[in-house]
Amino acid sequence: MPLFEQVTIIGLGLIGGSLAAAVRSGGLAKKIVAGSRSSRTLERGLSLGLVDEGYQDLAQAVQGADLVFVSVPVSAMAATFSAIVPGLERHAIVTDGGSVKGSVIAAARAQLGAHFSRFVPGHPIAGKEKSGVDAADAALYQRHRVILTPVAETDPAATQAVRRLWTAVGADVLSMGPDEHDRVLAETSHLPHLLAFSLVDTLARQGDSTDIFRYAAGGFRDFTRIASSDPVMWHDIFTENQDAVLAAADLFAAGLARFRDAVARGDSDALLGIMTRANTARARFL
Ligand code: NAD
Repeated sequence: MPLFEQVTIIGLGLIGGSLAAAVRSGGLAKKIVAGSRSSRTLERGLSLGLVDEGYQDLAQAVQGADLVFVSVPVSAMAATFSAIVPGLERHAIVTDGGSVKGSVIAAARAQLGAHFSRFVPGHPIAGKEKSGVDAADAALYQRHRVILTPVAETDPAATQAVRRLWTAVGADVLSMGPDEHDRVLAETSHLPHLLAFSLVDTLARQGDSTDIFRYAAGGFRDFTRIASSDPVMWHDIFTENQDAVLAAADLFAAGLARFRDAVARGDSDALLGIMTRANTARARFL
C-alpha cells in the first residue's frame, strides 16, 4: 500500500539507493525519482530498477514529490537544499540521512525558507564500508535504528510521515534533540572511526602496511574494519561535528591516560577494575 505518490531521492549512493530499493520492494511510493549530479549514477539507478526517473537538475527531480530524501555528503547539504528549493511542492516533506544533525539543521534553516517547517532531520544508524549506488541494499534498514531530531519549528505531521516511512522499511525509529544526537554519535560512532583510522595510520607509518595484517589476529581485524570506510565522508563528519568529536576524543584521551598509568604502575587492581567494568558494560550491548 503506497504511503506516497512520489518519493524523490537526492544523492543516490549507499544510503539513498538503499532507501529507494526498500521503498520499491515495499511498494511504498507510486513513483521513485532520483536527483544526482552524475549521469552515470542516474543510469545505474534506472538499470538496477531502483528509480523510475532520474534528473541531473535537482529542482526538476523534486517536482511532484510528496517526500524528498536528501542523502548527499554532509558538507554538500547546504548547496543541495538551495538547489532543490525552486522545485519543491508547497506540501513537500524534506528529510535527510546525514550523519551529523546540528550542521545539517543549520543548513536547512538557512536554505529551505518556508519549507523549513516541513524539514525532518534524520539519521539511519545503518551502513557499510562500501559506498555508491551499486552498494544499495533493500534490507539495509531492517531492524536498524533511525534517529529523528525534529526542532521546535518542525511540523509534527511531517515528523509522523517520515516516521511511517522508516517504520515501513523495517527500521526502529526514535527521537532525540540534535545536540544529544551529535554528542551520542560522536562517542559511539565518530570516536571509534577516529580511533580505527588513527591506529591503522599510526602503525602503517612505521613501515609497510601489508606487514601489519600479516601478523595481526582477528581482534585487530575486527577493531580496524571501519578504517576501510570512505575518507571523504568521514572527513565531513569530523569537521561538521568538530566540537562533539573533540569532546569525545578528550574523554577518551583521559581514559587512555588512566589505562596507561595503571600499566606503568603495574597496578593490577586498577587494570582489572577498568577491564571488568568494560566487560560488564559491553555485555549489555550483545
Ligand atoms: P555515498 O558516497 O554512497 O553517496 C553519496 C551520494 O551523494 C552519491 O550519489 C554522490 O554522487 C552524491 N554526492 C557526492 N558529493 C556530492 C556533492 N558535493 N553534491 C551533491 N551530491 C554529491 O555516501 P552514503 O554513504 O550514501 O552517504 C550519504 C549520506 O548518508 C551522508 O550524509 C552520510 O553522512 C550519511 N550516512 C552514511 C552512512 C554510512 O555508513 N555510509 C550511515 C548513515 C548516514
